[in-house]
Amino acid sequence: MVIYKRVSDLQSFLTPYKEANKKIGFVPTMGALHEGHLSLLKAAKQECDIVVASVFVNPTQFNNPSDLEKYPRMPQKDADLLEQNGCDVMFLPEVEDIYPAQYQTLHLDLSPVDEVMEGKYRPGHFDGVVNVVSRLFDIVQPNKAYFGRKDFQQVAVIRAMTKKLNLGVEIIACDTVREEGGLAMSSRNLRLNEAQKKEALVIYQSLIQAKKMAQENSPTTTLAYLIDALGQSTLELEYAEVVNPETLLPLTDEWIDGATACVVAYCGDVRLIDNMELI
Ligand code: AMP
Repeated sequence: MVIYKRVSDLQSFLTPYKEANKKIGFVPTMGALHEGHLSLLKAAKQECDIVVASVFVNPTQFNNPSDLEKYPRMPQKDADLLEQNGCDVMFLPEVEDIYPAQYQTLHLDLSPVDEVMEGKYRPGHFDGVVNVVSRLFDIVQPNKAYFGRKDFQQVAVIRAMTKKLNLGVEIIACDTVREEGGLAMSSRNLRLNEAQKKEALVIYQSLIQAKKMAQENSPTTTLAYLIDALGQSTLELEYAEVVNPETLLPLTDEWIDGATACVVAYCGDVRLIDNMELI
């Protein structure tokens, strides 16, 4: 595996692959890699000739400065994991490589997918995601890019951005990888102690129960159950929604294929996000 920090070095390395029409797969991450990230890498390796993974903690997508400060950073361990798992290129830029002085911030209207849920509770978050992902796509020029369904709304926003900007990158969504017991893997889980990891299981358990309830109840009733179950737990629920998977708008009376329950809850000061397809 080769590691590049500079945009020009990465691009010089990739040019011959592009000229030979090789398929470039791209896995953007913020590091502190776990099995969830590695599942994206594995999917990319199966479908592409060469795989680039980036590790960049993007400051513009953090609306909470202390979350940014506390975000785990372990580039050497990440490099080892990427290499052991067959990654070809690690891109490890600095903030000034991604946002040089002449960088022009993009402001896209992707409504409604960027407005609801995370859009409402983390103002500016998706502007940051859109800017970093479009900038990374511009640098890497991948054929396919791999994202986790764990960040369900992020996938919808990136698909909408790719379409709007006509980027010609195929967006592949990969299933959520979970710890034993069901907690969705996340770099932020490193900040949970053992007792909190147990408390956090209620998210997966209540999503599973909601999926069962959805067979015989309306979206509204299923959501009421979910809110109640999480409300009674030791977590602090930020929001729970049952949404249309395309528009991300709430469902009330009628189910549609792919209807998905989305949850965000705090365990201590750690913000946990999860979702499950119900129908
Ligand atoms: P992050 O480093 O948290 O920005 O995540 C980088 C990519 O990995 C995103 O596309 C995430 O959705 C994906 N990802 C994070 N956690 C998981 C997981 N548990 N299962 C599958 N994909 C994940």
